Amino acid sequence: MGRAYRAPGRVNLIGEHTDYNDGFVMPVAIDRHTSVSLEPRTDRRLIARSDAYRDPAEIDLDAIGGGPTGHWSDYVRGVAAVLERDGHRLGGADLRVRSDVPIGAGLSSSAALEVAVGGALLGATGIDFDRTALALACQRAEHEFAGTRCGIMDQFVVCHARPDHALLLDTRTLEMKWIPLPDQVAFVVCNTMTRHALAGSAYNDRRADCEAGVRAIAARVPGVRALRDVTPAILETNRAALPDRIYRRCRHVVTENARVLDAARSLEERDLDAFGSLMGASHRSLRDDYEVSCPELDAMVESALAAGAYGARMTGGGFGGCTVNLVAAGAVDDFRARVAGRYLEHTGHTPDIYVCTASRGVEACPL
Ligand code: ADP
Ligand code: MG
Repeated sequence: MGRAYRAPGRVNLIGEHTDYNDGFVMPVAIDRHTSVSLEPRTDRRLIARSDAYRDPAEIDLDAIGGGPTGHWSDYVRGVAAVLERDGHRLGGADLRVRSDVPIGAGLSSSAALEVAVGGALLGATGIDFDRTALALACQRAEHEFAGTRCGIMDQFVVCHARPDHALLLDTRTLEMKWIPLPDQVAFVVCNTMTRHALAGSAYNDRRADCEAGVRAIAARVPGVRALRDVTPAILETNRAALPDRIYRRCRHVVTENARVLDAARSLEERDLDAFGSLMGASHRSLRDDYEVSCPELDAMVESALAAGAYGARMTGGGFGGCTVNLVAAGAVDDFRARVAGRYLEHTGHTPDIYVCTASRGVEACPL
């Protein structure tokens, strides 16, 4: 008998490029999903089709090769391979992927795909799965089979998310804290409708810069294993040991970690102005120190502030994709119209705008 699982996209409210530095993040799952329906086969082959791509993929579970090929099914192959390696004996199946998560826009269509595939494959075995173990398996799949050395944020929130809550996640310990989202505000996602070619390679470059910073600081300060362990004071004391670019990369991560904790407090206290200004500081740090913004993201943030948002920032890896905006619930329609008009004027592009409802993580769904 067939079955289906669906997994949401996500938007990160604050804490960008911190998750591969053992730091803090604050994502929410959005009400856009990737679903995977599964019909068992009698052999050990996966035949995967996606509504988003013409080419199907055929994967032999007894001979899964490693490494990225660039085909969309790398994610499917990767998840199947890692689950099998973790000791799950999977069955052959016809898989059908459908999604309304925009692809490559920074809303983590990749994690939604991985986790929905993982949920469907494990669901078909009839074994209850552990959500954290599934998230870790999907992260490994993305590292080894898609070639992106991502942190754990995306897969983790896509597995664990709760409706109406943001997740404050410590990516070192995987400790979770659920923060209720106030009714009087909405998080609005604005898609710049652009993605620059740099997006892929820059991610791994930034990661390497952070590792270089950790090596230089760890040689002088005992106990530093990741930028998570570096306080602003430690960073300043060791500034001379770091080339300027590496220093600025580290400064982004170190200050961003502090901003996430401040933002969590602001949200709990319903201090929306404070939350908004932390979003602004995050965007400037990503733009100036981490250098992962682009003219379209900057134009969208500027348009959002002019349209009355409490705060606005790029979200996701950068170089295009989306911004996230904190907007008074009663002002959402006016905000949409104004931000779209202003962004069009600046760039010539009409943005897609999604008002997000914080949704639950991976779940079984009707076929
Ligand atoms: P993001 O996660 O920000 O959307 P990524 O570049 O990390 O962007 O992941 C996008 C890739 O994930 C696509 O190029 C494709 O390979 C895969 N993917 C995502 N959604 C789908 C889908 N619905 N069908 C097939 N492949 C998908
Ligand atoms: Mg992705």
